[in-house]
Amino acid sequence: MLDKVVIANRGEIALRILRACRELGIRTVAVHSTVDRDLKHVRLADETVCIGPPPAADSYLNMPAIISAAEVTDAVAIHPGYGFLSENADFAERVEQSGFIFIGPKPETIRLMGDKVSAIRAMQEAGVPCVPGSDGPLGDDADETLRMAHQIGYPIIIKAAGGGGGRGMRVVHSEAALLTTLDLTRSEAGAAFGNPTVYMEKYLEHPRHIEIQVLADTHGHAIHLGERDCSMQRRHQKVIEEAPAPGITPEQRRRIGQVCVDACQRIGYRGAGTFEFLYQDGEFYFIEMNTRVQVEHPVTELITGVDIVKAQLRIAAGLPLGYRQEQIRITGHALECRLNAEDPESFIPSPGTISQYHPPGGPGIRVDSHLYNGYRVPPNYDSMIGKLIAYGETREAAIARMRGALAELVIEGIKTNAPLHRRILGDARFLDGGTDIHYLEKQLLAVR
Ligand code: ADP
Repeated sequence: MLDKVVIANRGEIALRILRACRELGIRTVAVHSTVDRDLKHVRLADETVCIGPPPAADSYLNMPAIISAAEVTDAVAIHPGYGFLSENADFAERVEQSGFIFIGPKPETIRLMGDKVSAIRAMQEAGVPCVPGSDGPLGDDADETLRMAHQIGYPIIIKAAGGGGGRGMRVVHSEAALLTTLDLTRSEAGAAFGNPTVYMEKYLEHPRHIEIQVLADTHGHAIHLGERDCSMQRRHQKVIEEAPAPGITPEQRRRIGQVCVDACQRIGYRGAGTFEFLYQDGEFYFIEMNTRVQVEHPVTELITGVDIVKAQLRIAAGLPLGYRQEQIRITGHALECRLNAEDPESFIPSPGTISQYHPPGGPGIRVDSHLYNGYRVPPNYDSMIGKLIAYGETREAAIARMRGALAELVIEGIKTNAPLHRRILGDARFLDGGTDIHYLEKQLLAVR
């Protein structure tokens, strides 16, 4: 097993990684910014290194500072968590060149999947179904672009090859708006992601977001852990996730899961990863692959019993997976509510000091959060302050537990989106299951 790991992240995921390391007897190094000295995992880590001032660019994105922290502490590996440097191929490369293990896929895989155009191409070659589209970057030939859009059929969506986090996408409903929207998306993408490359896809009007979790070791084994439904979104950002996805049959799961496992083997994938699909009218369409642990990984852990973060650490240590596909059994149902420090009506971030914190508990409730009484949520980072996860034998049982957990939860001193979760958990359409990606914004939030 690995001897000592640098946790190059903050908040709930840093704590999650620390806990997995402890279970495996791995020593931990917490690297943190000056404003994050009092983070829970920083207090619990074996060693800590301050890597810079609050702005992420100077701390959590500061590659030399993080690699130096590994050097001075004699660590052997770096876990990037999600966000920050987790999908930065240059970082993974520098980590490896400095003699450390990057807990994630090979740098070339991250690079391949980090550019959505090359990712889609690789997936098409591997036999993964994709959204009909331009099958490559859009060039400067306006007539060709207009012809292509006409052939695909409006509405279409223009997406940045380097986009992420729900940014860098624009929908075009008619030919009149195509070229100006194309120019706009291109210049925004250049400014935001340093890559002006854009491509075109058919805009699916009522899809669900369904993703497949995979694990692959360095011995040529790969498995999938079934799917998650992450259709409850606002501004392309996930709000509630669940597993399994309502209405997906074991046969559909087996087929799409196998497609992903085959693709992993074909590209020589290593570690934990997620194939994201849009699902409409019974068909799956690949949109992108995330080459890291995801925020919503706990729902899969609860229905499969597989600890995904421990699996990442084992794979990084060169150990075999230890699971065969036939051993993976899906039992029960799990939901996750992302808790954000934000106004539930305006969604404006609400940093500040937590004056009262009472997390819920009881059977089937898991709270992944770094909060504690007196903790100050800084204004410098993502507003997510934790996740409430509920498990039950059935979807109804899991929902009942989540409602109970939301009723028990007390967070005072800042505003949170808990009222929004309470509202969704009481919504008749959500209770039926299978709502599409537009439901929350276009219907539930539109009627007040
Ligand atoms: P990101 O990397 O920013 O997360 P994705 O490609 O994963 O971008 O897309 C994020 C979300 O945008 C999807 O979950 C979906 O809601 C929407 N989306 C992306 N592509 C399409 C499409 N072709 N049709 C309809 N919605 C789409």
